[in-house]
Amino acid sequence: MEDLFGDALLRWQRIESILHTVFSDYGFSEIRTPALEKIEVFSRSVGDTTDIVEKQMYTITDVSKEVLVLRPEGTASFMRAVVEHQLHQLAGPQRYYYYLPMFRHERPQKGRLRQFYQFGGELIQDPSPEADAEIICLVDSLFRKIGLKDFRTRLNSVGCVDCRPKYREVLVQFLKGHPIHDNLCDQCKLRLERAPLRVLDCKNESCRSVAAQAPRIPDHLCSPCSAHHSQVQTSLKALGVPFENDSTIVRGLDYYTRSAFEFTSSLLGAQDALGGGGRYDGLSAQFGKAHFPGVGFAAGMERVILALDAATGNEAPIRRPSIFLAPLGPRAFDLLFKLSFDLKRAGLQTEMSYDRAKGLKNILKLADKRDSTWTVVIGDDEIAKQKALVKEMKTGTQSEIALSEIATFLTARMARAT
Ligand code: AMP
Repeated sequence: MEDLFGDALLRWQRIESILHTVFSDYGFSEIRTPALEKIEVFSRSVGDTTDIVEKQMYTITDVSKEVLVLRPEGTASFMRAVVEHQLHQLAGPQRYYYYLPMFRHERPQKGRLRQFYQFGGELIQDPSPEADAEIICLVDSLFRKIGLKDFRTRLNSVGCVDCRPKYREVLVQFLKGHPIHDNLCDQCKLRLERAPLRVLDCKNESCRSVAAQAPRIPDHLCSPCSAHHSQVQTSLKALGVPFENDSTIVRGLDYYTRSAFEFTSSLLGAQDALGGGGRYDGLSAQFGKAHFPGVGFAAGMERVILALDAATGNEAPIRRPSIFLAPLGPRAFDLLFKLSFDLKRAGLQTEMSYDRAKGLKNILKLADKRDSTWTVVIGDDEIAKQKALVKEMKTGTQSEIALSEIATFLTARMARAT
């Protein structure tokens, strides 16, 4: 788990502001759900055989003996909230996004944290393939506006309740009956019994070579799923969104139907997933009587930042212009103390040292360390003239400004500097 502060956090904030803007451009409104949910929210919907539910949930029993979980992913919480507030009853498709911390008890490694931030978008009440294309195009826009260039979008269809079980049988028969069965990693040998599709997206080299020879799910889709899959591709081409088909994308979560997609970056090393998502038409049934379709994605903020850093695309944050006040003597101190709050109230970032014993040289040193844009110096002479010395730190240019004019003068300069 990480602490975030200083310049690093400024860079997060730059990205956060782009996220909010782009989501809003696409007509998505924000939703914030609580960090703690009842355990059933995840165990029922995410799937009992997934890594998240099996071993990664932070579970607590509260004083009333209720078992609660720190949210490990966003979609299940979102669906719980939709059903609770009847958001699916509102007219037409609904678009929501979230940007929230998630918690998973994972083995820590680069790009894998136990508290990490995800941003995600969910589009409910629209079963059309164009909605899937919209989500993928939204992620493409988000990544590009943030400044990510080296990412790949990979698309697959995992079918529906009709065709997926049939494919699963074909796959299990292939994997069990084939001499390559012995090449599977121990985990995949277990998966073969419980979640055979997950063998396809195992990162282990020998499992990957087995996956490459396995029957492909797009060849086993029923005709409605097949038509849906091809329309998603047609729409993405029409929108000019680059993507590739990859039949090994199955996603870890049980609730996906039809489209499943992933976004990866070669700049990330072993943990190369930036995000992923898919259609989850069957999920609502886990939350109550209402049945409604949905499609969405989630992406990892830390991974996005790692990828930006690797590409040196995440340039140093642009600092707000700021003012440092330097008094010479007690009268000037009192005058500048008051002025510093006038400036703050006028919306100008202003700082002053309250150490009355600090000499001008040390004050200016501190102003320099703070990267201040201007210093305002006042001593007895200036008070007599009712003027202050305003110095632009970068150029060393000094101007004498009437005390009553300082806020106006600096506001005008500020506007030019930003
Ligand atoms: P998932 O819900 O597992 O598909 O995760 C979606 C995205 O969240 C992944 O592609 C990663 O970018 C990010 N992510 C998942 N788990 C972690 C983690 N433990 N630490 C950091 N980022 C993560």
